[in-house]
Amino acid sequence: MSYEAFKDDALAFETRQLHSGYDPGANSLSKAVPIYQTAAFELGGFERCERLFTFEEEGFSYGRFSNPTNDVLEKRIASLEGGAAAVSFGSGMAAISSVFLNLAQAGDDIAAVKTLYGGSTTLLGKLLPAYGITASWVDRPDDPAAFRAAIGKRTKAVFVESLGNPGMNIVDIEAVARIAHERGIPLVVDNTFATPYLFRPFEFGADIVCHSATKYLGGHGTTLGGLVVEAGGFDWFNGGYPQFEEFHAELAGTIEEGNLRRTLFTRRLRGRYLAELGAHLSPLSAFLLLQGMETLSLRVQRHVENARRVAEFLSGHRAVSSVEYPGLPTSRYFALAKKYFPRGTGAILSVRLRGGEEAAKRVLERVRIFDYLVNLGDAKSLIVHPSTSTHYGLSVEEQEASGVYEDMLRLSVGIEDSGDLIEDLRQALEG
Ligand SMILES: *Cc1c(COP(=O)(O)O)cnc(C)c1O
Repeated sequence: MSYEAFKDDALAFETRQLHSGYDPGANSLSKAVPIYQTAAFELGGFERCERLFTFEEEGFSYGRFSNPTNDVLEKRIASLEGGAAAVSFGSGMAAISSVFLNLAQAGDDIAAVKTLYGGSTTLLGKLLPAYGITASWVDRPDDPAAFRAAIGKRTKAVFVESLGNPGMNIVDIEAVARIAHERGIPLVVDNTFATPYLFRPFEFGADIVCHSATKYLGGHGTTLGGLVVEAGGFDWFNGGYPQFEEFHAELAGTIEEGNLRRTLFTRRLRGRYLAELGAHLSPLSAFLLLQGMETLSLRVQRHVENARRVAEFLSGHRAVSSVEYPGLPTSRYFALAKKYFPRGTGAILSVRLRGGEEAAKRVLERVRIFDYLVNLGDAKSLIVHPSTSTHYGLSVEEQEASGVYEDMLRLSVGIEDSGDLIEDLRQALEG
């Protein structure tokens, strides 16, 4: 067989999820990606050391900067998302916080929707302001014009999730990308809930994609990890990003100019933030995430099919007052879902119950197959009460602005038998 598959991006998604980024020929013909459990690599001579540290030669020196196992993971997600380069991190939050720090400096802001993962809301709303980076909140994410209004002189990026948490709202990504580009700033998309199998943000104008690989990419609830991918076409030389101009000047001449420009964001992300803040992903974790990604398309197809069935069952149940799942024709996001998610709208749904928090508590106590935990994207079905967990600590107004209510449960539908899942929910709702 030929080992060229590792670099052929013309192959189908299902083939690339198994092969891209890995060359067995360079790894003693090991069929599995080896786990390079080492802190450092031999420099192999004075001249080579110089070339490595000026980036004239690609290679490995110290594990906090890069590792061959992580390198395969980075190349694989770059291939699946259709991007130019990627960097791996120890968690999704490490990836997202490093992206914001790479884009914005003290005095700058990030325009973001409020319907974000709780950790991202806290990062932008409470932590980064202490370092001079603030959020410019987009109040009506359903209206692209609200994004234009939120972008000020010091706004350095627009940040959205491809499927919002926990209400599964869909932003009109193509329209928002156009608005961001009119103002010379990049669109950053957290693509965790969708995965590149369901949605590829770069095809609609996004510039940077980040992931909590902990969720569907790993897929089995065993391993924390984060990934950032760069599309490769953004102009960092438009006057708004002096930090990238400076970084470019440091590297210019040693790396081919076209390559340097296409990968400038991820090179600075690695050199400044991964390396200096130190949120590195262990090579064993990179291996486990790669193993999960081999079956991504199969799992996601099944997740989507089960989620649709569960959503249909719940929306017809008298104990349920509403179901948020954009794949349902009754959803106000159904038209956007058809445009952006022809393969399905993921497997997270939020459900509001008649009977308030008490009813939500009873369901949590009665479910037997669904596990009560704050994770999502596991092959196993999970359920949680966001108001007292993922969104704990926010005021009622803040919770409602994020689409969280006390009578609401969030389900992450797994790949079990859908009949068993529906029966489990039925007995929990009716018991
Ligand atoms: C879980 C999650 C994160 C954070 O990722 P960790 O791997 O837990 O740090 C960020 N964004 C979204 C949408 C998530 O679901």
